[in-house]
Amino acid sequence: MKTKISMIVLVVMTLILSACGTGVAAAGSQPIETAAQPQVQEAEVESQAVLLFGIGMHIEPLGETAQGFPSGKGDYHQAPLFERHGQDILAVADMVEAHDGRMTIQAQSPFTSAAIESGNSILADLAVRGHEIALHFHEDAHLGKNSSARSVQEWCDAMKQEMMLITQASGVTDIRYWSGGNLYPRLFEAAACAGLDVNSDWKNPQTQTTDLALVGLHPWRPSGGTDGTDFSLFVQPDPNGAVVFLPEGQYDKNNFGSMRRSDAAGGDEAYFEYLKQSLYASLEAAEAGKVNVFHFTIHPGEFRGDPQNPFAVIEKFLTEVVDPLVASGQVQWATFPQMADAYAAWEAAHPGAEPR
Ligand SMILES: [Zn+2]
Repeated sequence: MKTKISMIVLVVMTLILSACGTGVAAAGSQPIETAAQPQVQEAEVESQAVLLFGIGMHIEPLGETAQGFPSGKGDYHQAPLFERHGQDILAVADMVEAHDGRMTIQAQSPFTSAAIESGNSILADLAVRGHEIALHFHEDAHLGKNSSARSVQEWCDAMKQEMMLITQASGVTDIRYWSGGNLYPRLFEAAACAGLDVNSDWKNPQTQTTDLALVGLHPWRPSGGTDGTDFSLFVQPDPNGAVVFLPEGQYDKNNFGSMRRSDAAGGDEAYFEYLKQSLYASLEAAEAGKVNVFHFTIHPGEFRGDPQNPFAVIEKFLTEVVDPLVASGQVQWATFPQMADAYAAWEAAHPGAEPR
């Protein structure tokens, strides 16, 4: 009986150790019987998969951008719209903070330029409170209608200009993450030139859909971008790639990035129900010994719901779904650069390993 237990322990330990790729020598160097109990407990802790969880906030380009292109409906240079969306962002930030989370807030002009002009400190305040300040880059709003025909240098310059405005508005100099520019095949070259190294939220702006080849849990460094049709370089990991791409999680519908706007799909409640299912599916698929990520996006003014109880659908999701998983250790809050740093640490510890 004792031998049988020892065998099971050995098998478990070998599985764990080979999964981690470390410490094989330690197994043979200790008397199994005496060391078995604490080692198995330790192994169980190590073998629990953790899902890094985050929320992104996209601030859209409403009004004339810094590059002089008109964009969107409404104008952030008009104080009432800027104030209303600013209040929405702060309300959601308060809510997330109350659940011990921090968002990755992605801004662009004219929100940034309007903040600078009016002396509004919202982005600086959010940065001080620990939220990650990042770039949301609508290519047509900053490069014009034919943005895909523009050079890498022109893209790099426009991204840098947008990042400079974010720095001016927020005080943040280390801007690492961006979303947008998704149909430019040389996007990653342009972003690396601008000093950015973390990306996610790939969605075709024309169809509002995400190719399911980009869905999943494990980050990787893409070999190149896409024109929206050919994803072969995007899905091919390049260990020397300049940019870490964070997939959004285990989603099974290609319109998960836009379905929240569809009342036909059941509105906010149905969207958060789908988020819950996708989060649970992601937990199910999460792997110990790998970096697993899940995140979703909120826009200012979205999910307002009942004016007496605005954003209740977000509060409910955080309280009922996220908090218990954080308490049990299965989910950990992370900003997007924190997810990328976790992946870089995993890469360093597993040279040559397949990321996906
Ligand atoms: Zn956008």
